[in-house]
Amino acid sequence: MYDPKSKHAEDFINHEEIMETLDYARKNKTNRELIGEILEKAKKRKGLSHREAAVLLDCELDDKNQEIFTLAEQIKKDFYGNRIVMFAPLYLSNYCVNGCLYCPYHLKNKHIARKKLTQDEIRAEVTALQDMGHKRLAIETGEDPVNCPIEYVLESIKTIYDMKHKNGAIRRVNVNIAATTVENYRKLKEAGIGTYILFQETYHKESYLKLHPTGPKHNYDYHTEAMDRAMEGGIDDVGCGVLFGLELYRYEFAGLLMHAEHLEAVYGVGPHTISVPRIKKADDIDPDMFDNGIDDDTFAKIVACIRIAVPYTGMILSTRESKKCRERVLHLGISQISGGSRTSVGGYVEEEAEDESSEQFDVSDKRTLDEVVNWLMDMEYIPSFCTACYREGRTGDRFMSLCKSGQIQNCCLPNALMTLKEYLMDYASQDTREKGEAMIAREIQNIPKEKVRQIVREHLEEIEKGNRDFRF
Ligand code: SF4
Ligand code: SF4
Repeated sequence: MYDPKSKHAEDFINHEEIMETLDYARKNKTNRELIGEILEKAKKRKGLSHREAAVLLDCELDDKNQEIFTLAEQIKKDFYGNRIVMFAPLYLSNYCVNGCLYCPYHLKNKHIARKKLTQDEIRAEVTALQDMGHKRLAIETGEDPVNCPIEYVLESIKTIYDMKHKNGAIRRVNVNIAATTVENYRKLKEAGIGTYILFQETYHKESYLKLHPTGPKHNYDYHTEAMDRAMEGGIDDVGCGVLFGLELYRYEFAGLLMHAEHLEAVYGVGPHTISVPRIKKADDIDPDMFDNGIDDDTFAKIVACIRIAVPYTGMILSTRESKKCRERVLHLGISQISGGSRTSVGGYVEEEAEDESSEQFDVSDKRTLDEVVNWLMDMEYIPSFCTACYREGRTGDRFMSLCKSGQIQNCCLPNALMTLKEYLMDYASQDTREKGEAMIAREIQNIPKEKVRQIVREHLEEIEKGNRDFRF
């Protein structure tokens, strides 16, 4: 039976509840009165239930759909301003004992090059990432207890945090590794990770079992309950996501929001972020093998409805998406993007020959970080390299209560401007630097408190002199 407070996967991601939700949404897709009521509730910016959000996702009234997009855009502006936080993935190892049908790292793929970075190779990758200007990484590994045990991941995190190269430093390491034990989550917490990220891939149990025919990941309940164990291990910032294209998107959307409701109900804090990847081509993977692919219009609607349903949850978009698609959905709710990404093991130091591919998926947006930063500023977005919250202990419910009170905004803009300044001083091209300086001069006026404005001005001068790492 559906119970968001239960810690059993089949209760909080309850199939019958999802089917009833989809039925309810279908029956009400032109119910003007109900859709109007849901939108009124959403305007209070306290979020929506999965049922309410599912009705908006299904809505077929043009004027109401326009309202949905306008509201998503407004919520994005109110909560995240025009800032976009930058990050990069770092692939440590692609050894994997699982049989996921949509990923080229699956065990049976015998011709993909298998690699695991040594600590020296990690230092070389991190040097390359720091030289691009990155401060926030998401480390990724396949699941392989022998080739890639938790000790290796912990050692790698330490190596990354210890690396100082010129003015560079990785200040936040998020971790995307397979579902594991409470004890291992506790070790990750002690290693100082930011967010623990784990994509559900699909919430549809029957499909999940078929898509993960072999390996430990086959265990749907263990995978679905991973965030509970992470929370028990003390990690209070978790990142959810599904791989759109594997199952019907309406099902995934409802499941994703039910997962968020569950975390909120049990731990008092919903997911820190939600990622919205779509299935892409890769070594021996053809996305056409999966018949639930979604077009760009549907994708934009999903992003808008997630933004409205969980306004306090950051939303992440990767370089899987093209520049055009990214342009379209940024203003609808995305708060974090990757830039200059390589999705192969060791890819920042050495680009791979085509026949030696170890990429997890094809990158659509192949621009450099500088090009992405420049492009964001052309669209009036402030690229932010901020990592302040986690370093100031603002995680989990402390972070969420600051978000809900609106206080966090007093930190985000100053931090965005100061970290952008660091980027401009240390890594930017001439053109990017000129645009960035002009943007900082304009945006500093938008810091509401004169006292904070003054402190930011002083810190900007310090950054000019070569000092680094100021934050609120
Ligand atoms: S999705 Fe993850 S667990 Fe599955 S094969 Fe790829 S790397 Fe392994
Ligand atoms: S101040 Fe906190 S919420 Fe704002 S951008 Fe920085 S890390 Fe994110």
